[in-house]
Amino acid sequence: MLHYEGTLYRPPSEAESLILQATIGCSYNECTFCAMYRDKRFRVRKLDELRAEIASVAARARDDVRKVFLADGDALVAKAAFLGELLDALRAAFPNLQRVSCYASPQALQVRSEAEMSELRARGLTLYYLGIESGHDEVLTRLAKGVDAAEMIRVAAKAHAAGVKLSTMILLGAGGRALSLAHARESARVVNAIQPRFVSTLVMTPVEGTPLWEQAERGEVDELTPLELAAELREFVAALELEGSVFRSNHASNYLAVAGSLPKDKRAIVAALDALLARPERARFRPSWSRGL
Ligand code: SF4
Repeated sequence: MLHYEGTLYRPPSEAESLILQATIGCSYNECTFCAMYRDKRFRVRKLDELRAEIASVAARARDDVRKVFLADGDALVAKAAFLGELLDALRAAFPNLQRVSCYASPQALQVRSEAEMSELRARGLTLYYLGIESGHDEVLTRLAKGVDAAEMIRVAAKAHAAGVKLSTMILLGAGGRALSLAHARESARVVNAIQPRFVSTLVMTPVEGTPLWEQAERGEVDELTPLELAAELREFVAALELEGSVFRSNHASNYLAVAGSLPKDKRAIVAALDALLARPERARFRPSWSRGL
């Protein structure tokens, strides 16, 4: 049987994947906006327990498992030898396995060497989800992300050099009104430097139990309206110079669902956002109660 501890989180694109909780919590756990693992103390699970869980799933659905997502927030920070053995067990159990993915914090990318990432990629770990959040240093500091934009680019380049695909997230609204434009443009600059395979946006939303929530309670968070977020998204997409990426804003936190392939669909996305901003009375934003937060 699969054993899950606490609330499980996974990216929207892992909805069909087997979720295996290789680690519990996030080893960093300091980002001001993140409520996911506040109640968990980080630890790596025992390989034997995980092997038993893999065997129980394989007994029922050996041929059905094509994708595996390694939870929780920061599985990449576990020792490379542990991850390698876990990947070998997954490949041995599921003959149709096509990819294994996990969240990768910038801190985990600092710890893992390029050679380790390359070795793990060869054993199946081919995609990392990286929360860039912003390319603006002041915004990154406010979010307590723990790295600046230059370091974000450096660690992402290690993964790139190791042949690992990256799926990156940007947090719309994270700069408030004053830094909205700069946040959009600097975030695009960093994404352009990284050239991830997938780019997505989420909307920064204060969630109870986080430092961001406390800041919002004290009136210190300048939350953007849906229209202002659309304007920020427009600036972000307009500044993207990507060679071959998939863009999505389909996370539940978004007021607008936008998707396309870049660079092919960039002009169409920007034109659609311009049309929306020109006629805001026609805009159909997701109501906040349906945003799943
Ligand atoms: S690194 Fe990721 S999982 Fe960890 S606290 Fe920050 S946003 Fe949350």
